Amino acid sequence: MQYLVLYAVVLVVVWLLYVRRQRRIHSQHQQQLEQSVAAGLVEPPSLHPVVDPLRCLGSSSCVTACPEEALGIIDGKAVLVNAASCIGHGACLKACPVDAIKLVFGTEKRGIDIPNVSSEFESNVPGLFIAGELGGMGLIRKAAEQGRQAIEILRKRARGAHDLDVVIVGGGPAGLSAGLSAIENKLRYKLIEQEESLGGSVFHYPRNKIAMTAPVKLALVGKMRFGEVQKEKLLEFWQGVVAKTGLSINFRECMEGIDRDGDGFIVRTNRNTYRTRSVLLALGRRGTPRKLDVPGEESPKVVYRLIDPNQYDGQAVLVVGGGDSALEAAIALSERSGTQVTLSYRSAAFARVKQKNRDTLDQAQRNGRVRIELESTVKNIEAATVTLQTKDGLKTLRNDAVIVCAGGLLPTPLLQKIGIEFETKHGTA
Ligand SMILES: Cc1cc2nc3c(=O)[nH]c(=O)nc-3n(C[C@H](O)[C@H](O)[C@H](O)COP(=O)(O)OP(=O)(O)OC[C@H]3O[C@@H](n4cnc5c(N)ncnc54)[C@H](O)[C@@H]3O)c2cc1C
Ligand code: SF4
Repeated sequence: MQYLVLYAVVLVVVWLLYVRRQRRIHSQHQQQLEQSVAAGLVEPPSLHPVVDPLRCLGSSSCVTACPEEALGIIDGKAVLVNAASCIGHGACLKACPVDAIKLVFGTEKRGIDIPNVSSEFESNVPGLFIAGELGGMGLIRKAAEQGRQAIEILRKRARGAHDLDVVIVGGGPAGLSAGLSAIENKLRYKLIEQEESLGGSVFHYPRNKIAMTAPVKLALVGKMRFGEVQKEKLLEFWQGVVAKTGLSINFRECMEGIDRDGDGFIVRTNRNTYRTRSVLLALGRRGTPRKLDVPGEESPKVVYRLIDPNQYDGQAVLVVGGGDSALEAAIALSERSGTQVTLSYRSAAFARVKQKNRDTLDQAQRNGRVRIELESTVKNIEAATVTLQTKDGLKTLRNDAVIVCAGGLLPTPLLQKIGIEFETKHGTA
């Protein structure tokens, strides 16, 4: 009897601890959701889960499976509490024991344009292929797989009187894998990448981020056997592959237009014009950095992302933009020695940013480490200064570097011009 009472007491204590823990988790998730709503970060970037509340048992398996901490449990049901960080890899879908999750593109409010692509990765424009995230399917493994397969398919096309067999646009996982396949298949190729770095979106992951991927076959190299891998290790691996295989990549070359040219294409870039039989677009979905279009912007001191904060030690830096990447750049620079950081944003307040970034920025401003110029725009970039148009008139500041974080422009209009058809998805698979 004594034992029974003891067991009962233990069970009640365990149960109470469980309930307390669940309540704490529930309130944390509720808080996360409220913060996302307050910051205006409620729209997922692309593919994301939708939970059927009638089926969901609130088991938390999806919450545990999600490596991006995008899901939470509120009122016993799974909810996308941190929608902006969902990257659509579907670990939640696989983890759900009752099939309550489906993955969809876009939401009622925010449509996602997905190009029409055949099972052979060809768009409705014959000879124009699309691989990787631009086609809707993100993820490192899938992008790499599609890049390789697309080249294997397009190599079967007859070679015409073109200078090249294929121009591959984009140096992310899809483009890199396609480039290796082009070498293996002895194609005449050009691989162009608008940035000066390898790896596409992976290069932009937060420092030390663990990427969840799965083994994938790369032409010339064999299986890339990564499961969970630190971003830096993955980039190092790709750099090794490029060095070993001699894959040629034209960095800082941006595709600006594609025109029909008989049975092939003319690809126009900021540096060249290529006549090619086929084009493989492996552009991803981040787009081309939005420019300021002001005098002096062509100066080498203007860049469109912060790579290494250390290089700005002792410098006067202007960061332009009002999103998380602008705030994170300003914060990182403010922590370096001797920097003089100004953050210029055209609106009156920072909407749509993470609370954590807003708080850290406020702190940096209070400590005099960052000067914030709201309702300001850049007027002119001069050799040693920048001029801002502010609500109090023109202000000229000492300046050694400008970092523009004003988002990216998707090439949808440019691709539509050449005839690629898109479907706007509003919450469908
Ligand atoms: C924060 C974050 C975390 C993620 N974590 C994971 C993860 O853990 N596991 C996973 O599998 N996936 C993850 N993903 C998704 C994964 O990174 C992408 O799905 C994958 O990189 C897509 O590869 P891609 O080659 O299609 O495009 P991208 O990697 O985006 O590469 C496209 C390249 O094209 C270039 N480009 C674009 N336009 C032009 C132009 N006009 N001219 C020349 N070049 C151009 C871009 O500069 C870019 O380098 C994550 C994504 C994000 C944002
Ligand atoms: S799709 Fe991936 S990132 Fe999005 S909620 Fe599911 S597991 Fe998390």
